[in-house]
Amino acid sequence: MILQIALDTPLRRVFDYLPPAQPAGLAAPEAPRLGVRVRVPFGRQQLIGVLVGVASESTVPAAKLKAAVHILDEQSIVDPITFELLRWAAEYYHHPLGEVFAAALPVSLREGQSAHENPLWWSLSEAGRQELSAPGSRRAPQQRALLAWLNDRGRASTDDVAEVFKPAHLRALQERGWITAQSLAADPVPMEFHPSEVALTDPQARSVAAILESLSTFAAHLLYGVTGSGKTEVYLRVIAAAIAQGGQALVLVPEIALTPQLVERFRRRFSSGVVAVHSGLTGSERRDAWRAAHGGQARIIIGTRSAVFTSLPKLALIVVDEEHDASYKQQEGFRYSARDLAVVRAQRAAVPIVLGSATPSLETLENSATGRYSKHLLPQRPGAAQAPRMSLVDLRRHAADQGVSTPAMQAIAHHLGAGGQIIVFLNRRGYAPSLFCNACGWVAPCAHCDARMTLHRHAQQLRCHHCGAHGPVPAICGSCSHPLNPVGQGTERVEETLTRLFPEAPLARLDRDTASARGAVQTVLDRVHSGVARILIGTQMLTKGHHFPEVSLVVILDADQGLFASDFRATERLAQTITQVAGRAGREARAGEVLIQTQYPEHPLLTRLLTEGYEGFAASALEERREAAWPPYSRLAMLRAEAKDSVGLDAFLRAAVDSSRSLQETAVQVLGPATALIARRADHFRAHLLIETAARSTLQRFLKNWLPQVEKLPGPPGLRWHIDVDPLEVD
Ligand code: ADP
Ligand code: ZN
Ligand code: ZN
Repeated sequence: MILQIALDTPLRRVFDYLPPAQPAGLAAPEAPRLGVRVRVPFGRQQLIGVLVGVASESTVPAAKLKAAVHILDEQSIVDPITFELLRWAAEYYHHPLGEVFAAALPVSLREGQSAHENPLWWSLSEAGRQELSAPGSRRAPQQRALLAWLNDRGRASTDDVAEVFKPAHLRALQERGWITAQSLAADPVPMEFHPSEVALTDPQARSVAAILESLSTFAAHLLYGVTGSGKTEVYLRVIAAAIAQGGQALVLVPEIALTPQLVERFRRRFSSGVVAVHSGLTGSERRDAWRAAHGGQARIIIGTRSAVFTSLPKLALIVVDEEHDASYKQQEGFRYSARDLAVVRAQRAAVPIVLGSATPSLETLENSATGRYSKHLLPQRPGAAQAPRMSLVDLRRHAADQGVSTPAMQAIAHHLGAGGQIIVFLNRRGYAPSLFCNACGWVAPCAHCDARMTLHRHAQQLRCHHCGAHGPVPAICGSCSHPLNPVGQGTERVEETLTRLFPEAPLARLDRDTASARGAVQTVLDRVHSGVARILIGTQMLTKGHHFPEVSLVVILDADQGLFASDFRATERLAQTITQVAGRAGREARAGEVLIQTQYPEHPLLTRLLTEGYEGFAASALEERREAAWPPYSRLAMLRAEAKDSVGLDAFLRAAVDSSRSLQETAVQVLGPATALIARRADHFRAHLLIETAARSTLQRFLKNWLPQVEKLPGPPGLRWHIDVDPLEVD
């Protein structure tokens, strides 16, 4: 019997091992189940991998086969559908299976901790408390440290202790009688449903009915509702029905830290059994959330991207909120789309999936046009709320003070006077995007990238937004010694300008610089919700589903960044951003107004968006994609590579193109090599190949045959490359 083990290594293969040695005289062991974890020798260390196959023979010579050390589980550590999903994802994204499993499992499970709730909890005995308060013996400082640590926490599970202390110390304390163990079994959580106070609107009621009709079968539903139209209310209703019989629901959201309100709303409606999984959790919190899902105690799992891999044995429904959001695509390592995998998962689990958005991706719109997804519209905001009035401000005709035009200033003054709050959107953080010499045209460059440094005045630094390099702010030009000027605006500078223009109005700023500290986002959002802050300035972070009832004006300072970008998805993203930011205005009783500043007020994208809305924009954008044969009317993959040696990099990519020719796939085009938009980043030159074809299956067959050849090609020292299937960005 040969065990095929997926190990967390960059190699695109599984590893063969013999079963662990049996004590003499015992009968031959039964084959372990697929999906169990196995500890195996690997080089000079031991690794924990996942059993993905059992074979009768191996291509490895018998003398070289090693025996596994230990099988950790009796049952698979993920439910059978997640197990299949992970295998499917590894194939589809052409990524090593071991790394795929590693991406799915919390660290502590990868390190061998139990997949189940740990029932043993430790706490201090009376003797232990006396020992702790007695003047310290110097003999066992580690044991005393553990005693003090346990005393602070009250109680801790064996796993919690193991993360900080050696098991031997725990045993020693137990032998001395200083600590005691107590068994607390994890109870299944009884669910309480608190009915909603609102009566559904007709479109909401129709959507709920249609989704519920498909319970227990696979069906994909696009819930296309303008911002504030009541999509979340629809999710809550269908989830309540789906889990009423004991099922579990998975809710994917772009970013939890930015939308704590959503989790709160779920907790209010369902009281218990709601578990949020996000990057802010500690290792043991993440593990506990995972176990609660795997064991069935957690009934609703709300999580970001990687939560799509949560083991959910009783999955009954999936919701993907803001399905168009780019954060569903993992952009490094294992590059998967959580949105797409959620659809595959729903299909395999035979459960419905709801994809919600005010600005659906063109892929999803195409899927609903062809009937693969059914579309449900929520065209209006419930109650008194009206869609905001949008207009363009021609920056060529109106003076601007540091990027804030006169009409925008007047509107801000007007809305402040009427007691409204204001959002000012600019997708550029820092003070100014460049530091410029008026005398000779020199611009402060990054020493490691083909890019400019951004001025951060508050931190008194120049920072590169591409590689993270930073340095002091030079006072004079690096070339002619003339004094330097900051040119252009970032959020920091807009904050300064608005403080000067509206000294009475308290400001809040939300961007990656102000949000980096733990809890900082919440502080900013609280200041806006409480009404203390009257003007909120921010980047992309503002677009993510916030609900600020008192916001009546949204100003988009610079719509032009996305108008002429080379990436084929740039206009889609711009239209989504504008629509989403605009959707923050007038969400309740106050009428909303949106001003969009641009140098190109006659640009068809902007005029169409204003006259026909996102739907009109999307229809013409899909037409353009069809003519140009871009996705969703073709399938793409990118092979991206980087190295310090640009000549060697180019040679590697050319050799990769040559090897693709030998496969004679006439339906596949391999384009390039082309240099990346930022041609050099962190001292590495970057270039890529674009692989284009009409059908998914052709692309898959081609990659399967081609990548093993690419792996064998020689490259310059330090060469790194990866394949990105269904890339979001192609430049
Ligand atoms: P979305 O998720 O589409 O942005 P929400 O579900 O958050 O929209 O709804 C926006 C606001 O409208 C919320 O304050 C919500 O409580 C309210 N709302 C939703 N549905 C109804 C309804 N049928 N009647 C009245 N108010 C509603
Ligand atoms: Zn100069
Ligand atoms: Zn840089």
